[in-house]
Amino acid sequence: MSDINRPVRVRFAPSPTGPLHIGGVRTALYNYLFARQNGGTMILRIEDTDSQRFVPGAEDYINEALAWLGIEIDEGVREGGPFGPYRQSERRDIYRRHVQMLLDAGKAYYAFDTPEELEAARAATPNFQYDASTRMGMRNSLSLPTEEVEKMIADGQKYVVRFKIDPGRDVQVHDRIRGLVTIKSDILDDKVLYKSADDLPTYHLANIVDDHLMEVSHVIRGEEWLPSAPLHVLLYEAFGWSDTMPEFVHLPLLLKPDGKGKLSKRDGDRLGFPVFPLLWNDPKSGETSSGYRESGYIPQAVVNFLALLGWNPGDDTEVMSMNELIAKFSLDHCSRSGAKFAFEKGKWFNHVYLQEIPSEKLVELFLPVMEANGVAPDAFSKEYISKALEIVKSRANFVPELWEHAHFFFRAPLSYDAKAVKKRWDSTMGDTMTRLAELLESQPDFSGKVLEPAVMEWIKSNGLHMGNVMNAFRLTVVGECKGPHMFEITDLLGRDETLRRIRAGVDCIHPADEPDI
Ligand code: GLU
Repeated sequence: MSDINRPVRVRFAPSPTGPLHIGGVRTALYNYLFARQNGGTMILRIEDTDSQRFVPGAEDYINEALAWLGIEIDEGVREGGPFGPYRQSERRDIYRRHVQMLLDAGKAYYAFDTPEELEAARAATPNFQYDASTRMGMRNSLSLPTEEVEKMIADGQKYVVRFKIDPGRDVQVHDRIRGLVTIKSDILDDKVLYKSADDLPTYHLANIVDDHLMEVSHVIRGEEWLPSAPLHVLLYEAFGWSDTMPEFVHLPLLLKPDGKGKLSKRDGDRLGFPVFPLLWNDPKSGETSSGYRESGYIPQAVVNFLALLGWNPGDDTEVMSMNELIAKFSLDHCSRSGAKFAFEKGKWFNHVYLQEIPSEKLVELFLPVMEANGVAPDAFSKEYISKALEIVKSRANFVPELWEHAHFFFRAPLSYDAKAVKKRWDSTMGDTMTRLAELLESQPDFSGKVLEPAVMEWIKSNGLHMGNVMNAFRLTVVGECKGPHMFEITDLLGRDETLRRIRAGVDCIHPADEPDI
C-alpha cells in the first residue's frame, strides 16, 4: 500500500486519439495541483499503443492545451526526464520483457484464437467470457500441447498474450475517494495484454508497467477507469509489485449541464459551449470543433472553473488563482458524485478574470477584434483604446464581446436604431439637439465632471424633459439608446467628435412619421 513518505509522482496519461476532452483537462489539472502542493513531480505520458486509434496532431494538441492553461509538465516527451522514453510506442522492449516475465511465471499465456473463432464462441455461448470457465475450450498455450504452441510461434503465427485470472478471489481496490471497492475475480476476463500482430502491449499492461517503472505514487484519473482498477490490482500482484502499488483516485464524471449522463460533445453543440480546450480540426473528417481558447476564454478562468467541477475548498470561495488552488486543493474534498458541467458558470468566471486583465494587456487582446471589425489598429492611440475598454469592460464576459459594448468609441453611428428613433425623436428634437450642440461648443471645459452639471442645468432652465433630451443625445452619439454613462462617453470622444455626431444626427435622423427627404 502507499507509503506516506513516498515522493509524490503523478502522471497524466492521455491517449492521442483525438482532441483532449475538457474532462481530460480537469484530470490533468487535479494531478498538477496535487503534484505542486506536495512538491511532487508531474509526468506527461503519451499512451499511444492503440495504433488503430492513433490520430496525427493529437499529441501536439495535448502539449499546447496544457501549456495554454499553465499546467506545467516536469517529465514528458518534450521535457525529458530520468524515466523516459515517455511515449509508449518507444518502450516496446520494456513491455516485451514484462510480458515475458508474466509468461515465465505462468501468470499469462499465449492465445491463437482467430477473430472468427472468437466470434463463433460468442455466438455459441450467451455472455461468453474468455476466462477460467472457457479457456480450456479455446486455442491457447494452456489447452494445446507445448510442441504445437512452440511450432506455431516459430512459424510466426499471430497470437495474443492473455492474463490468467484465477477465479474465486475477492479483489480489493482502495480508492481515495470511494473507499474500499471489492469485486469477485470471476467477473473479470483474461484480458489481452499484448498482440504479436503489431508487437505492442494493450493499455492495461503498458499502463501498469509504466506506473511501476516511473515510480508513480498516485493514479488520479477519471471514474471511467474504475472498472479497470481490479485488473490493475491483479497485475501489480502478478508482477510482485503490490507493495509499491500507487494509490488510486478516481475522479467523478463530468455530467451534462441539464441532466443526467456523461457530458458529450453533442451537449456542447446543442447548448453552445466548447468541450475542448483548443480549436480542433479533425484530420480525418475535416470537422472543426470549437475550443475554449478560440472562443475568447481566459486560461485562468478555465482553470478556476474546472477546478471546482468535482472539488471544493471546504468553504464558499470561488475565485482562486492557480497558486491558491495549489494551496487549497485536497483529494479529501473531491466529490464522489458526478459534477454537472455548469457552463454558464464558466462564462461568469471569464467575466471575473476579464476585469482583472491589466489595461495594456487588454488592449493587445482587443486589437485583433478591432481589426476584424474594420478599424485599423493604429487609428487610435493605445491610451484611448485602453480608456474605452476601461469604461465598458464590466459589461462583457469575453474579449470579442467588448466590441459590441465599445464600437461607438471607434466609429460614429452608421445608422440609428429604428425603435429608439420612434420613441425618442419627435419633430422638436432636431432643434433641441442643435441647441445642445451650441451649449457644448461654448463650454470652456469639456470634461464630463464639468459638462454634466452644465447640461443638467441647461435642461432644467429650458423646461426640457431630462429623459427625452439625454436619450436623443445618446442616440446621436452612440446610434442606440444604451451604453455607459453619457458623460463618460463624451469625455473620451472629446468635443469635436461629440459635436460632429450630434450635428450628423440632426441631419440624418427624422421623426418616424415624417418621410425622409
Ligand atoms: N490512456 C488512458 C487515457 O486515455 C489513461 C487512463 C489512466 O490514467 O490510467 O485516459
